[in-house]
Amino acid sequence: MAMPIYEVYAVRYAQRGGRRPEHFLHGDPHDLPMSMDYFVWLVRSGRRVIVVDTGFSEATAKRRGREFLRSARAGFELLGVQAGQISDVVITHMHNDHAGTMADFPQARFHVQDAEMAYVTGRHMGQQLLRRPYELHDVQTMVRLIFEGRVSFHAGDDEIAPGVSIHHIGGHTPGLQSVRVHTARGWMVLASDASHYYEHFENDRVFPVTVNIAAVLEGYAKLHRLADSPRHIVPGHDPLVMKRYPPAAPGLEGIAVRLDAEPVY
Ligand SMILES: [Zn+2]
Repeated sequence: MAMPIYEVYAVRYAQRGGRRPEHFLHGDPHDLPMSMDYFVWLVRSGRRVIVVDTGFSEATAKRRGREFLRSARAGFELLGVQAGQISDVVITHMHNDHAGTMADFPQARFHVQDAEMAYVTGRHMGQQLLRRPYELHDVQTMVRLIFEGRVSFHAGDDEIAPGVSIHHIGGHTPGLQSVRVHTARGWMVLASDASHYYEHFENDRVFPVTVNIAAVLEGYAKLHRLADSPRHIVPGHDPLVMKRYPPAAPGLEGIAVRLDAEPVY
């Protein structure tokens, strides 16, 4: 059977302001504005719908000072997908902006790395600095899903469906995973926070929130190996994604883009 071809979408669900030095380890000489977008992603072929990450809730956004635009579920509805149609959710890592609102997807099976769950339920969460990007509520939700038999654990690289695979890239967190998808324009990679902005993987820069700098840099090489070209790598938080790809549908400008289309840059 031929390899399925997937449509891939990014939905922008929140944003915040910021400046360049905040987004690079050891800062940046140019103290210029650099905002951050927050995305969730949707991968679809026929009736198979796979979601990558679930974003944070409005309450978490408020507490952390982010500008909330819409829930992940509401964003996917704008693409014509109801939560009940979603069979699989890849959680790239357990940070608050990726693993909130999991309870909004009652039919889904969740995919997470062994290393991430060990980390968020282990000794290092006793350190305020290390637990800060995580929400206890999200970890509790994931543990409940495990007890309901709805979580698939992965150790390293694995296939979720024909043409959709996950790839462990530690560094930002111990168990971060990126997602590789077969599309009409070839193999593309949803890096998630293996690269927050284009500049990180393009210039070997590192985001300041990281547990292992060496693994982050190794991860950029892995992204390049997995993607058909650098133009097939989609970073996790870069507002340029909304500019480089076409809107998912008329009326969705600034809200959702189609990532399996040819980017312009
Ligand atoms: Zn993130």
